[in-house]
Amino acid sequence: MTLHEGKKDIRELTFDELKEALEAMGEKAYRASQIFSWIHSKAAGSFDEMSDISKALREKLKENFYLSLPETETVRISKQDGTKKYLFKLEDGECIESVRMIYHHGISVCISSQVGCRQGCSFCASTLGGLVRNLTASEMAGQIYAISRESKERVSNVVIMGIGEPLDNYDEVLRFLKLISDERGYGLGGRNITLSTCGLVPKIRELADEGLKLTLALSLHAVTDEKRQAIMPVAKRYSLHELMDAVDYYFEKTGRRVSFEYSLIKGVNDSDVDVKGLAELAGRRNCHVNLIPVNPVTERGLKEPDRTHVLEFKNKLEKRGINATIRREMGRDIEGACGQLRRQMRAVPFSKGESVPDEA
Ligand code: SAH
Repeated sequence: MTLHEGKKDIRELTFDELKEALEAMGEKAYRASQIFSWIHSKAAGSFDEMSDISKALREKLKENFYLSLPETETVRISKQDGTKKYLFKLEDGECIESVRMIYHHGISVCISSQVGCRQGCSFCASTLGGLVRNLTASEMAGQIYAISRESKERVSNVVIMGIGEPLDNYDEVLRFLKLISDERGYGLGGRNITLSTCGLVPKIRELADEGLKLTLALSLHAVTDEKRQAIMPVAKRYSLHELMDAVDYYFEKTGRRVSFEYSLIKGVNDSDVDVKGLAELAGRRNCHVNLIPVNPVTERGLKEPDRTHVLEFKNKLEKRGINATIRREMGRDIEGACGQLRRQMRAVPFSKGESVPDEA
C-alpha cells in the first residue's frame, strides 16, 4: 500500500518467512520467536511496544516493515446480551465488521474475510455493493487481536462468518489460518475455528485436502436447486448434488461434522415440504442444522417467520431425527447480521464493487 512506501506488513509473514527476513537483515534467528510472539501472542499494534527488542532493531524493522491494528470506527454494544459489534477502519479507509460474542465457554469472534462480497445472496446485506477487495491474512488476524486487546481476554473461538465469502479469498484465508494456529503465536487450533461458505464446490474439496481440523459451515438455505437458485446465485454454478458430494468429501477427509446453516425466510423456505427435504438431506450425513430466522435487511424486503413457526420447524426436524438448533440471535438490536452496520454507516451508496455475473 502506498501509505507505507513499499514497506511490507510484518504480520503477514509466517514464522519461517519472518526468520528468513531477519536473517537477511543480519539478525539472529531467535529474534524471530520474540518478534512473532509480540505480533501474534501479545497482539502488538506497533514496534515500539516490543520492550525486549533493542531500539536499534526496532528502527531497522520500521525501515522495512509496518505493523498496525485496525482502527475502531464505531462499537455498538447489545443491551440484550453484551454482544459487541465493531466497525473497523482499515489502512485504505475501507470498513469491515467484526462481532464479539460472549458464550459460557469464552469469547467468540466473528470476522470478515473481504470488503463486500460478490456472491449476491438475496437476503444478505454484505453483498449489496459487490466486492471491493479481499482482506489480507494480517487484516483478518488484526480483527481478532484488536478485540482481544480491548477485551483484555483471550479469544477462544473464531468464526469466519462476517462480511465476505472466505473461499473466494482462499490463499489469504489459508495464510491467516496458518498464522493464527501457530503455537509460537496465538495458537488457536482448527477445532476452535469455523469457516462458513455459500458453497464454492471446488474450494470445499481443496480445503478438505489441507489437513486442517476446521468446522465447515455450509450456507444451505434451500433444499431444491430451483429454490436455492432463486435466493443464491452460486447455486446456478453448482448443483445441490455436487455440493453434497463435496460436503461428504470434507467429512470423509477431516472427520469433522458439517454444520448446515438455514436462514428461515417467511413464505420462501419454511414450509412442510422444506422440512421434509431438509430432513432428507441432513439425515443422510453426519451434520447439524443451525436455523437462523432471517435478519430483515430493508433493501431486500424479506421477512422472518413468526417465532412459533420457527419453533415448529425445528420440532418437525427433530421428530425426523435431525439435530437442530435455533441460532441465538445475538446483537439483533445492533445490526448484528452480516454487513448491516457497514451498510448503515456508509454515507454514499455502494457502487464500485464487483459481482459474479449471473450465469443462469
Ligand atoms: N459468505 C459466507 C459467510 C458469510 S455469511 C457464507 O455464505 O456462508 C454468514 C451466514 O449468515 C451465512 O449463512 C449467511 O447466509 C447468513 N446470512 C447473511 N445475511 C443474513 C440475514 N440477513 N439473515 C440471516 N442470515 C443471514
